[in-house]
Amino acid sequence: MRKPLIIANWKMNKTISETEQYAQEFLQLKKNTERIDLVICPPFTGLAKLRAVCKEQINLGGQNMFWENSGAYTGEISADMLLSCGCRYVIVGHSERRRLFNESNSIVNRKMKIALEKRLIPVLCVGETLQERENKLAYDIVSEQLREGLAGLEPPGHSWAVAYEPVWAIGTGENAYPDDAQVMAAFIRAELGTFNKSLPSYTRILYGGSVTENNAAAFFAQADIDGALIGGASLNAETFANIAGKYKTDD
Ligand code: PEP
Repeated sequence: MRKPLIIANWKMNKTISETEQYAQEFLQLKKNTERIDLVICPPFTGLAKLRAVCKEQINLGGQNMFWENSGAYTGEISADMLLSCGCRYVIVGHSERRRLFNESNSIVNRKMKIALEKRLIPVLCVGETLQERENKLAYDIVSEQLREGLAGLEPPGHSWAVAYEPVWAIGTGENAYPDDAQVMAAFIRAELGTFNKSLPSYTRILYGGSVTENNAAAFFAQADIDGALIGGASLNAETFANIAGKYKTDD
């Protein structure tokens, strides 16, 4: 069985004192969390504070990283550095990275490679723009992002995730219909099977794009959706805890 995975992506938000306040509040509020992998991806500057306050109670993730281990790469951060801050997860290829920082599929591929080598759990983000959707290219684009993002990689053999995040739904308040997200998640699962037969059974597929307390349960109820990647709604500790509480596990 795939363990549900719910990830907060804070993007470029929260100072150290705001991080500390959130962490204390969230620890009081979180529920149902033994059966779910809960991850917070703060800005890099917040990692140490989250680790200090939450200890092992919350998983930490990086929002991004570079593919080299060290060297003259001003402004970048390596997988080893994330690991040394206590991160187990890293988001790779978020659409904001692709759009604002020109991350191509081949750059995403290099980052995936180092994440897997270092045994960080990568969360590979894929998704189409509005224009691509209107031109009926959504499935082609997602397929290409998977093919090029995973090119030449050994199957991870350990836990990892793909997040389907339609670009038009990120931070817009316009979520995909849960049924449509399910169809895309099933497509992604089938595509993963063309890389390696065992990938579909253990890859966790998440939905991301304007998930809120009101719509989360409808996404979590879908057969191929194993959790969510949440931006705006994760910035409030109570809201994020409530969203995690919407995931109904069997036991
Ligand atoms: C995201 O940042 O990955 C995201 C899905 O953002 P939001 O929930 O705000 O749409």
